[in-house]
Amino acid sequence: MEFKLTKEQELIQKTARDFAEKSIEPAIDRIMKEHAIPQEILDGMKELDLLCLPISDAYGGAGAGYQSYVVALEQIASVSPGVAIVISVNCFGLAALEMFGSEELKQRYMSGACRGKHIMSIAMTEPEGADPRLIKTTAVREGDEYVLNGTKRFITACGYEGPIVIFARESDTGQICGFVVEKFCEGYSISEPWEKMGLQGTPMYDVYLKDVRIPASNMLGKLNQGFRILKNSIALGKIGISSIFLGTILAAYEECLKYADERIYLGKPLTQFQYLQGDIVDIAMKYEAARWLAYRLGYLADMNEDKGTIIKDSALTKMFITNTAVDVARTAINIHGSYGLMENYKVSRIWRDTIFGPQTEGTNALLKSVVAMDILKRQK
Ligand SMILES: Cc1cc2nc3c(=O)[nH]c(=O)nc-3n(C[C@H](O)[C@H](O)[C@H](O)COP(=O)(O)OP(=O)(O)OC[C@H]3O[C@@H](n4cnc5c(N)ncnc54)[C@H](O)[C@@H]3O)c2cc1C
Repeated sequence: MEFKLTKEQELIQKTARDFAEKSIEPAIDRIMKEHAIPQEILDGMKELDLLCLPISDAYGGAGAGYQSYVVALEQIASVSPGVAIVISVNCFGLAALEMFGSEELKQRYMSGACRGKHIMSIAMTEPEGADPRLIKTTAVREGDEYVLNGTKRFITACGYEGPIVIFARESDTGQICGFVVEKFCEGYSISEPWEKMGLQGTPMYDVYLKDVRIPASNMLGKLNQGFRILKNSIALGKIGISSIFLGTILAAYEECLKYADERIYLGKPLTQFQYLQGDIVDIAMKYEAARWLAYRLGYLADMNEDKGTIIKDSALTKMFITNTAVDVARTAINIHGSYGLMENYKVSRIWRDTIFGPQTEGTNALLKSVVAMDILKRQK
């Protein structure tokens, strides 16, 4: 057990921080207005390999592992979680392909997404809900092809060119399977972007599939493996979400330290008020707990050959960090008094971003039921 970053991880952390401060921070107003990531930021992330840190170098990834990924994403998200999301969704899709794609699919699709030529997406949620049992999108086998029809809801980054993994019900078995589709192929279209209250930068749309034809070999894994593929992919996806909301905790912490030091009240800085010191210590304590839990999740993914099996740990980590991020953002606003509610104060943006955490990639209520099943099964 070693609780410290390697030299390489420290370098990745510093590189991500420098990039976030020098390239993303100055563009924040533009990102907020245009609801999109400027091309030069995408290009910069591409050059630094930020879009593919945990993915194996055999398929064009950086091969830096999940611990480095967590450390880097935390820093990017501390400046803009909306930008960090494009990294996490790309790595989410890439991880599903890396774990379950055939060699041919990996060769065809992974290097483009690793190199930033394409951005991957992954689509599970439908208008009825995010529970996989509610999936109605169909994949009907016709000879050597599958024909996909259905609607996917709230899909991140599906307006970028590149592959998207669509989870649909396979016609012969009635089971859920993952299929790789090229965005904007015939029959693929998207809605207007959803107008989110936060996480600006990476838009989210509905995806419409109308008689989309793909080769049967674009299915991930084998028939009857689909549910496992979905669960294991989501487990790795949660590393990204956990790291992003760890980044918002770090941002709130840093904003509070700065503000409490600068703000003079009754002739002295806020840092000298004991009650407020307690609030800051509370944030520091929560940041430490969240940080080590997230780093540990990266470690578990790196150490585990069957990476997707970290299902319980990823759910626990995601729940703890996203709930903690909301608590911390609330305390941070409190420390800022009424200023914290003003648009031009960063903590108000942190609040609007943070509130997304418990709702995304499986609501925390749903995850509790997943973990409960696992824990109670082991008790027997
Ligand atoms: C910014 C953002 C990006 C997203 N990106 C993507 C994406 O790229 N791909 C994708 O597929 N989806 C994406 N989503 C969708 C997101 O993952 C789902 O919306 C989320 O998991 C919640 O599902 P839902 O909206 O269907 O809520 P529902 O599943 O409809 O839940 C409704 C309510 O029921 C509760 N509930 C549901 N199941 C249970 C249970 N078993 N036990 C107790 N309570 C339960 C929930 O907690 C909630 O209160 C994104 C959403 C957002 C906000």
